[in-house]
Amino acid sequence: MAEKVKSPAEVMKLLPQEDCGECGSDSCFEFALKLVERTTELERCPKLKKAATKKIKKMLAPPMAEITFGSGDKMLKTGGEEVMCREELAFFGKTILAYDVWDTMSEERLVERVQNITGMSFVRFKETFTVDAIAIRSVSGDPMKFKDVVKKVSDITDLPLILCSLDPKVLKAGAKVLKGKKPLLYAATKDNWEKVLDIAKEFETAVAIFSPDDLDMLGSIAATFQREGIGDLILDPGTFCEPESITQTLSNFSLLRRACVKANIPELSYPVMAVPAVASMSFKSKKAAAHYENYLANIFVTKGINLMILHFPEIWEFMPIVYLREGIFKHPKLESAIDPDLYAFNEPDADSPLMVTANYTLTYGIVSGDLDRYRVKCWLLVIDTNALSVDTAVGSGDFCAENIVEHMEEFDVESKVNHRVLIIPRVAAEILPELREELPDWKVVLGPKDSSEIATFLTDEWKNLVAE
Ligand code: SF4
Repeated sequence: MAEKVKSPAEVMKLLPQEDCGECGSDSCFEFALKLVERTTELERCPKLKKAATKKIKKMLAPPMAEITFGSGDKMLKTGGEEVMCREELAFFGKTILAYDVWDTMSEERLVERVQNITGMSFVRFKETFTVDAIAIRSVSGDPMKFKDVVKKVSDITDLPLILCSLDPKVLKAGAKVLKGKKPLLYAATKDNWEKVLDIAKEFETAVAIFSPDDLDMLGSIAATFQREGIGDLILDPGTFCEPESITQTLSNFSLLRRACVKANIPELSYPVMAVPAVASMSFKSKKAAAHYENYLANIFVTKGINLMILHFPEIWEFMPIVYLREGIFKHPKLESAIDPDLYAFNEPDADSPLMVTANYTLTYGIVSGDLDRYRVKCWLLVIDTNALSVDTAVGSGDFCAENIVEHMEEFDVESKVNHRVLIIPRVAAEILPELREELPDWKVVLGPKDSSEIATFLTDEWKNLVAE
């Protein structure tokens, strides 16, 4: 089958063609272009009729199915990929990160581990990152034991759960406990698929299909589930842990992606998953296993894998995987930009200092890092400089007086502060005269050259600046 062509002109034909700008784009064509690039949502056009909405959704549907599991606020969604490489457009089905527990753990250890996994988090650019799901492995093979552990885990955490066993009796015991919570069953295989299919139908679960190094079998089982109305499927072609087998593992992932986005083979057009946790079974040394798991996980994230089960819930392992994931799954068109806004640091009030900077991710990252590190209580106006740093944006004209004033008005800065002092970066000194002209009621001053000096600068200068 040919690759599906998504043309902005074709989408444009179905839009209201009023160029009213209510969707945030200047014209219907610009909106169509953004829809194709997936940088806006169809719902932003309030004038679109139902029939046209349906047609556009069908036209824009990604070749890879989007699947969900879990329920309520914590429901997870992944898949929806369109391309082989993220450079062609973007990856969308952000890797879901799950850590495992197992049913032979002592109750005390189980509770502690579930609490650790659920509570593991860190903050990056004001966004808090946490683990996405917990995988419960049946090691005992005992359905009753598994049931008890699933109950215990679901009482402690609200994270979506993955039930892991190849024995349908065990899976059914766990699925019963989670009725209505849509767990992911791991896994249907060539030997158990009929019984797993029955469980998936009865309890309306998502299903992982596991067929190590046999993509034909993977597709054949998926086709059967598809025919029987189970659409939330994820494919696991096996994670081969030994260093010499990694190529095979990666090659299987690439073949599956190609079968989906290039050949549009429906039964292989599902998200894929990997289990770096297998490293924990392949190394005698716990430390070596943890390092190898981390190595595998980072490789898989770069391939755009949609779900991973991990074994070592350590923050040193979790952070780099998340950092990499956030970079890989960020739309290339948006990756260098922070949303313009008036950002509050450390609970500022109306007397707190006001500063301005550019919306380049790195600039914002460094400045916000220094403000957080030194506990600076302030307002930071981030203006749209087309993702250029301050000095570059001064040169290009994006960090200019007019743009700063426009953003001050847009975010109603005057109502947030009692004083009229605006601090601009020292590297933007050349716009100072013009900005003072544009803001005659404000005292516009140069801040320090480096954001690491902001705390000292404010300690030394702020009182005088507001008093003068
Ligand atoms: S809101 Fe709708 S009609 Fe208006 S410009 Fe956007 S796409 Fe066109």
